[in-house]
Parts: sequence; C-alpha cells; structure tokens
Amino acid sequence: MTEVYTFGVKSGQNTAMIDITGEVRNLVRESGVKDGICVVYVPHTTAGITINENADPDVIKDFMMEINKLVPMWDGYQHREGNSAAHIKSSMMGFSQTLIISEGRLMMGTWQGIYFMEFDGPRIRKVHVKIIEG
Ligand code: ZN
Repeated sequence: MTEVYTFGVKSGQNTAMIDITGEVRNLVRESGVKDGICVVYVPHTTAGITINENADPDVIKDFMMEINKLVPMWDGYQHREGNSAAHIKSSMMGFSQTLIISEGRLMMGTWQGIYFMEFDGPRIRKVHVKIIEG
C-alpha cells in the first residue's frame, strides 16, 4: 500500500493559477512506481485543481479574466463569509485530477501543466497526492 503525500502551496493573491506539475512529477519519481495512477486532490472549498496550457502565460491571464466575469466577486450572494464566488469557482474547477503513470512518468501532453487554482487567497494550502501502482 502506498502512502498519501502532502505538500503545501502558498498563494500570494486572491485569485491565482499556480503550476504544481514539478512537485507532482517529483513525487511520482520518488515513489518508484512505473505504471499506475496518480490522483492529485485539493482538500479545500475555495480552491481547485485543473490541467491546462503551461507554455503561454497569457492563457492564465485570459482564464482569470473570463472566470471572474462568469462568477463575479460580488453579486448579491447570501453566504455571510463573503467568499461565495470562491466556493462556486472551486466547484467549477473540481477538487481532483487523475493522471496516468507510464514507464515511471506522467503521461501528459507537451503543453499541459497541473495547476492549483486559488480563489480565496492569499493562503497557505495543501495538496494531497496518492500514487497507485497497477
Ligand atoms: Zn465561505
């Protein structure tokens, strides 16, 4: 049975897309698993996880601009904590991604990166990673 690995992510802004591909790749390498599944999970209700382009930083800028239009920061929400937009964006992104490990490496496209999505920062967050051989 493999353990669950946990690492921290520090977000510097309210909303941010933070590339965590390197951290996940390192955990896969250190696990020694050659073939299997890697689950990346975020245990938060105002953050998420996604996979998207990591080549052109303008993709991130455009993504943030559009998601903030889809779910405005203030829109007459009832939730007293004042971070309903973050909760909604979090569920839109989802809380986990599943990746395939083949020959000891993550099977990802050339332009893909794994992103921690912060919607209610700045905060110190956690990411859990489970690597399953098979
Ligand atoms: Zn809340």
